[in-house]
Amino acid sequence: MSFLDYAPAPESTSVLNLQKSYGLFIDGQFVKGHGKPFATISPASEERIAEVANANAKDVDAAVAAARRAYDRTWSKLSGADRGKYLFRIARLIQERARELAVAESLDNGKPIKESRDVDVPLVAAWFFYYAGWADKLDYAGLGPNPRALGVAAQVIPWNFPLLMLAWKIAPALAAGNTVVIKPAETTPLSALIFAEILQQADLPAGVVNIVTGAGDTGEALVNHPDVNKVAFTGSTAVGRAIAKSVAGTGKKVTLELGGKAANIVFDDAPIDQAVEGIVNGIFFNQGHVCCAGSRLLVQESIHDEVVERLKARMSTLRLGDPLDKNTDIGAINSREQLDRIRELSDIGEAEGAERWSAPCEIPEKGFWFAPTIFTNVSTSSRIARDEIFGPVLSVLTFRTPAEAITKANNTPYGLSAGIWSDKGSKILAVADQLRAGVVWANTFNRFDPSSPFGGYKESGYGREGGRHGLAAYLEGGSW
Ligand code: NAD
Repeated sequence: MSFLDYAPAPESTSVLNLQKSYGLFIDGQFVKGHGKPFATISPASEERIAEVANANAKDVDAAVAAARRAYDRTWSKLSGADRGKYLFRIARLIQERARELAVAESLDNGKPIKESRDVDVPLVAAWFFYYAGWADKLDYAGLGPNPRALGVAAQVIPWNFPLLMLAWKIAPALAAGNTVVIKPAETTPLSALIFAEILQQADLPAGVVNIVTGAGDTGEALVNHPDVNKVAFTGSTAVGRAIAKSVAGTGKKVTLELGGKAANIVFDDAPIDQAVEGIVNGIFFNQGHVCCAGSRLLVQESIHDEVVERLKARMSTLRLGDPLDKNTDIGAINSREQLDRIRELSDIGEAEGAERWSAPCEIPEKGFWFAPTIFTNVSTSSRIARDEIFGPVLSVLTFRTPAEAITKANNTPYGLSAGIWSDKGSKILAVADQLRAGVVWANTFNRFDPSSPFGGYKESGYGREGGRHGLAAYLEGGSW
């Protein structure tokens, strides 16, 4: 069984029917926010898609109060089996409205429709199905007589996988018996608001999930609210650090999924064609807006030239353009700010002496775009080898021995993921064992499955999402 089995149901013919403006989703209803509404735009055309409410501290208060009421009066009183029924219902509605969700995601985020349609949305459904299946097992899973939920969870998510990050947060929280207030990223609120409609369709009791849109100040008000019991954050290491400090000593449970600078290690005995595909997928999937992106290619010296040549040839075939075109491989960069950051770091890379090569793409006039780019001749101390670029930019470094590959791979403050390409299983296991990374892929990259825990070492955060570990993060006791 793979997540592709959760692809849109054949009956999914729903069409995207956008509203001009969206409210906050509090206590089962869309309501006006007290902050100044903001526009969400398409990064591919810079056109306005919809106006979105902006939650201030008063709105966050209302959302947390609704979540608390729902926890006390309804959700904590249900059996696991009953919670599971709601989650199954939500999962099926996601499949029914899959096409609509995929279009909304590509419109708002800029990612290619073939990714939102074939990866994001099927995984979202898979996450809900997976945790729906856990809800009733919890009652008698040998976790002690009465595994307890934490209460109200405050969840803050980024813009790179808006709906998938929402599923990673909401599905385990509800399965474990918590209620939720979630804040989507300010540049990608749309799919979360359509998801709110799905919750209404599913008759989820009011207040079990509340969605507050807004920027960093909304997130700050939410995580610092005195009546939340758990904070789950996915985003940058800088904000994660600030959140860890602000909730320290409050008794709130915290999980943080932060940045990364993954090494993708290619040995000279690797199946080269497969490795080149894996390198391309590892860094150019979702325009490189991926926390676990294989942004540092560590290639064994003897095959460096061949791999780089093949990479350039493959990159030359990538089609950049309209995210809603089924043939597009590389969509738009999510925002002007992100584009500026990618440009700045790439310019620094050149100034530091690395050699830059960009795929020969035609860049549309409007919107935010960056051609797939690789840097060779990169030194380990340069910024492009150390900083998370979070864009379609690959830094190529070399190594001679497995020991050198391990040292270089671990030479980063991050530790979210890594990849190893080799024909020898024993070599893969020996190297994987020494990598300081939460996920290590072997002869593949960027594979996700709801049953598999995901999370970081070092400055990539703490706690795990996915699998039973992800569920434990929403239960008293924290692990089993
Ligand atoms: P970000 O940290 O700027 O924003 C993330 C979210 O936090 C947004 O919703 C934002 O509004 C909110 N926020 C901003 N300031 C806040 C504050 N002071 N208090 C509370 N909330 C606040 O990150 P981003 O630019 O949206 O996302 C990119 C980052 O996310 C990258 O570093 C990437 O690696 C990371 N990421 C990590 C994972 C993972 O699982 N480890 C997954 C996806 C993205």
